[in-house]
Amino acid sequence: MRLRRLTTRLLLAVSVPLILVTAMLLPVLHVHMETRIEGLHTEARAVLKAGQEALTRDVNESLNYVLAIAEMPTLRRYLSNYNTPALMEQSYSLSDMAQLSHFLDTIISHYPRYTKLVLIDNQGNEVLRAPQSRAPGAQVTGRQHREMDYFAEANKLLPRDLYLSPLGRDIHYELVSGDIIPVVNVSTPVFDAAGRRQGVVLLSLNWRYLTTALQQAMRLSQAGNSLLMNAQGQWLLDNTTLPLGTAHLGEAFAALAPAYWQVMNQRHQGFASVDNQLLYFQTEDIRTQRYRSLAGNIYSEPSYYPWKLGVLLPKPTWRSLIEEETTVLWFLLLTYAVAVAFGMLWAISSQRQRTLRRAAQRHAIEVSDLYENAPCGYHSLDASGRVVKMNRTELAWLGYSADEVMHRMAYRDLITPETRPQFDQAFQDVLQHQTGSAECSLLTRSGEQRHVMIHASAYHRAGKFVHSRATVFDLTERKHLEEQLRAQAMTDPLTGVFNRRYLQAQATVEIARSRRQHYTIALITIDIDHFKRINDEHGHDAGDNVLQAFTSIVARLLRQEDLLCRVGGEEFAILLPNTPLAQATQVAERIRQTVEVATFQVHEARPEKTLWLTASLGVTTVVANETSLTAALKRADIGLYRAKEQGRNRVVVHGGE
Ligand code: GH3
Ligand code: MG
Ligand code: MG
Repeated sequence: MRLRRLTTRLLLAVSVPLILVTAMLLPVLHVHMETRIEGLHTEARAVLKAGQEALTRDVNESLNYVLAIAEMPTLRRYLSNYNTPALMEQSYSLSDMAQLSHFLDTIISHYPRYTKLVLIDNQGNEVLRAPQSRAPGAQVTGRQHREMDYFAEANKLLPRDLYLSPLGRDIHYELVSGDIIPVVNVSTPVFDAAGRRQGVVLLSLNWRYLTTALQQAMRLSQAGNSLLMNAQGQWLLDNTTLPLGTAHLGEAFAALAPAYWQVMNQRHQGFASVDNQLLYFQTEDIRTQRYRSLAGNIYSEPSYYPWKLGVLLPKPTWRSLIEEETTVLWFLLLTYAVAVAFGMLWAISSQRQRTLRRAAQRHAIEVSDLYENAPCGYHSLDASGRVVKMNRTELAWLGYSADEVMHRMAYRDLITPETRPQFDQAFQDVLQHQTGSAECSLLTRSGEQRHVMIHASAYHRAGKFVHSRATVFDLTERKHLEEQLRAQAMTDPLTGVFNRRYLQAQATVEIARSRRQHYTIALITIDIDHFKRINDEHGHDAGDNVLQAFTSIVARLLRQEDLLCRVGGEEFAILLPNTPLAQATQVAERIRQTVEVATFQVHEARPEKTLWLTASLGVTTVVANETSLTAALKRADIGLYRAKEQGRNRVVVHGGE
């Protein structure tokens, strides 16, 4: 039972602090988590901004480059000459071409962001190509670009307008230095000084180069991915391994991650938590003003814009948070350990306290019981003698209730006026000398008196008298007891009449008095006849009852001053003060006659029986000079003996005067 209670307490001691500490720490951790997420927000915003800037810068640079090339006077002149075959043969045209070809080759080889530059005439014929420019004076390559969108679209544009091949719809790949890389074609029309359309310049951008720069600009401080896709949901970055699978350039991101795509497709920018990832995104349209500081308009396939630029970050978990912040982990463990240790300490000490408290309570009850029900009275009085405490025993003696006495009555008012001085003296002794005692009488509520002995001592606290403590012994009861003992010592327990010892003691007193007062003391002895038979026939108990009945018959025949005693089994003696022999003989005769006719009921017999008895009696008197009853008893017994001899049921006088 006790073990079970301890186990329950220990369980409580462990679980309650754990719950409390957790409840306390949760908001802290929550704030920590929020701070963390807020940090991610800030970082994501910064990264998105950096990505956008990189994209703007790189795309702008490329577009401006195309425009700058398209407006090169050499190139314009070359192309217009080229379109007029008569002029082509002129020497300066050849020199122009050599210069131009060399220049373009230099550009392409020095700028890895471009893979090729192609000059196309109005008919779609390739005129010049870098890095594989035709040698000066050689024939054109014969390549045809008429069917290509970059030519067809750019050929319709106004000066400074640009055409951008819709990235994602179809991906062009080129072999550059042994690598197959994706390219984006940008084209613009070329006009001569007179404003006549002369052809188209095509610049292919190394898309991998561009996106690598973009991803570098968007580098995160931790694990995460940059996202870029067109309005159709086609992946625009190089092949990338995302937590949800691998995204391939030109393939549908929408199919790979529909949940993410759905979020990104609904808004222009924002933040969402999908699965275990945090997604930040914004739309980006490279056809807008920001991308054409020098350009006129940018044309492309409208349904492929705007693009979606985004960042995907793993959502922080409690576990990752704690694992990253080892200080927090240690703090948590320490807090839990301390809380559990305190809890267990509490459980063990409270169990011990409980045991001690129980023991103390038991002890207090025992002490209180002893105090309240002691066979003597206890009370405490304040300095003015008023009762501040009294036990049940004394209250019962006095017949008052606790409420009537405590803090209401002065103890001396409970003492008889005659014995009050003794009490007052004893109380003064207690106040002055620490202890005091007095024998006095208490006055009970019903007006009776109780003789008591009071022993009191003073109780001090911090050197000051607080109250007296007294023990009260009831002498009335003791006296009563003594009297009882005395009576028991001189009476016969069966019949209640005096015994032989009392007879002899009292006889001495009576003899002395008879001498002084000159009167005679007579003595009668009685022995019931054939008493043994009663015992034999009806049992010892019946014999006892007969003895009691016999005693009361005899006692009724005597005066008050006569002393009836049982001196043996069924033998009695009667001391008759101030009785002459003749009168004593008459008394004896009256006894004999009364007994003879008396009937005795034997209740023990079934059916009840009636008996008749006789007794033999000896009579004598105490004679002069006798100071004890011994001689007289002997004489009376001789008379008795003779009565038996003569046939019983008679009175015989022997001796006496
Ligand atoms: P008798 O005196 O006439 O010669 O005959 P008895 O039968 O009375 O003889 P005796 O006096 O010798 O015997 C007394 C008997 O009384 C013996 C005993 O059994 C009985 N007796 C003595 N004391 C008690 C007593 O206290 N109670 C009872 N029931 N019987 C007692
Ligand atoms: Mg006898
Ligand atoms: Mg007898």
